[in-house]
Amino acid sequence: MSEIIRVAVSGAAGRVGQEVVRAVSRENGMELVGAVDVHNIGKDAGEVVGVAPLGVEIGNDLRQMLRETGAQVVVDFTSPRAVFDNARTAIEQGVHPVIGTTGMSTGERLELQELARQAGVGGLIAPNFAIGAVLMIRFAETAASYFPAVEIIELHHDQKLDAPSGTALKTAEVIAAKRGDHRPSMIEETIKLEGTRGGEFAQGIRVHSVRLPGLVAHQEVIFGGLGQTLTIRHDSLSRESYMPGVLLAVRRVIGSKELVYGLDNLMFEQA
Ligand code: NAP
Repeated sequence: MSEIIRVAVSGAAGRVGQEVVRAVSRENGMELVGAVDVHNIGKDAGEVVGVAPLGVEIGNDLRQMLRETGAQVVVDFTSPRAVFDNARTAIEQGVHPVIGTTGMSTGERLELQELARQAGVGGLIAPNFAIGAVLMIRFAETAASYFPAVEIIELHHDQKLDAPSGTALKTAEVIAAKRGDHRPSMIEETIKLEGTRGGEFAQGIRVHSVRLPGLVAHQEVIFGGLGQTLTIRHDSLSRESYMPGVLLAVRRVIGSKELVYGLDNLMFEQA
């Protein structure tokens, strides 16, 4: 019989962190052993997320919690301001990080990947844990060979701190790499309202960010070609949508020695 995986959650009182606490605590083969946040300190994590008490008190010191609980994996859904230090702490403690928090710079990510390599502690940084979103990026990568013109519209709830979303950036990155050297339209546009045409990632790939209450996380990748368009759309309708991806990652990072970027690395590794 395989061993129970000891999981901790950072940002356990947050919107996604609460889902992770619920998902891990009811998952066979996993045990929630620790939780930290800057809110609800001293309260039982189960009570905070609306399930029966779990016997895990929410703390405010990640390093101490990891040391005391013997966690093997820490899932991080905190804030762009906290995630880099949290990940470094986990790696230093030999704990596999599974990071959902977005907003980290490329430089910070590369630094963490190097730290993880030196320490031999594998993990995952994923801009999107929704399996459907990972497939959307895969399908967009395929379409990019046939439809060079593309724009991305990402739509999120109005509490999101960073723009554009990590998923939109990852999608743009994958499309740009796939289609190679593409010359965008040279038409000179008259912009009557600053920002209307979105942000240009590279080579004419534009990204538009919509923020509204009522939304969760959505994205459209719209390709345009001769006499036709192709729209690939994904909707996360609730934060539960991230949980199958998070649980898959928790299982796969155990024993890994590389900090990979993107859930696709774990989903398609055996494909
Ligand atoms: P949230 O509701 O604000 O939850 C984050 C929680 O972490 C808050 O309670 C926050 O407190 C707390 N926190 C901040 N700094 C901390 C620290 N140093 N240690 C421990 N806890 C800390 O945000 P959310 O909606 O759950 O999203 C969290 C992050 O995940 C965001 O970056 C979001 O973009 C990202 N996200 C990623 C995915 C994905 O699939 N990869 C999906 C959804 C969201 P304060 O409120 O005081 O800051």
